[in-house]
Amino acid sequence: MPSRMAHVGWLAVIAVLVTTAPAAAQGACPPTKPDMLGPFYVAGAPERSKTGDGLTVQGVVRSARACAPLAGAKIEWWSANGQGQYDDAHRATQVSGADGGFRYVTDMPGKYPGRPVHVHVRVSAPGQKTLVSQVYPRPNQSDVTLDFVLVPDN
Ligand code: FE
Repeated sequence: MPSRMAHVGWLAVIAVLVTTAPAAAQGACPPTKPDMLGPFYVAGAPERSKTGDGLTVQGVVRSARACAPLAGAKIEWWSANGQGQYDDAHRATQVSGADGGFRYVTDMPGKYPGRPVHVHVRVSAPGQKTLVSQVYPRPNQSDVTLDFVLVPDN
């Protein structure tokens, strides 16, 4: 009986190693790279998930700590309109769902000089450092799927 118990113990250890080692080795949840805030951020944009058509950005807000999904994270979006000008019609605030998920639909931003096409985003959640970043859709890319990974405060 003692040797059987020992086997069960080893199996548990192996199970833990198998399930945790790959994530640790690959750094499964590296924090999202911050990017410039730029001059056009305006706080307090209306809460909505759609400000246009043709470009969908979706994913999950997570903490870099254990990749944990963050429910109730605040996601603020702003981008240029089709003419390459920032306007209030392309500003929105969203809150991530119970599973940390979000889905935002907007127009493909127009070009403006000196920058690749981009959508600005600011993601904040209790206990995490606020992330300011940008999403860069490729030309003709209508769907972008990505997670926003925040760094814990401590
Ligand atoms: Fe910009």
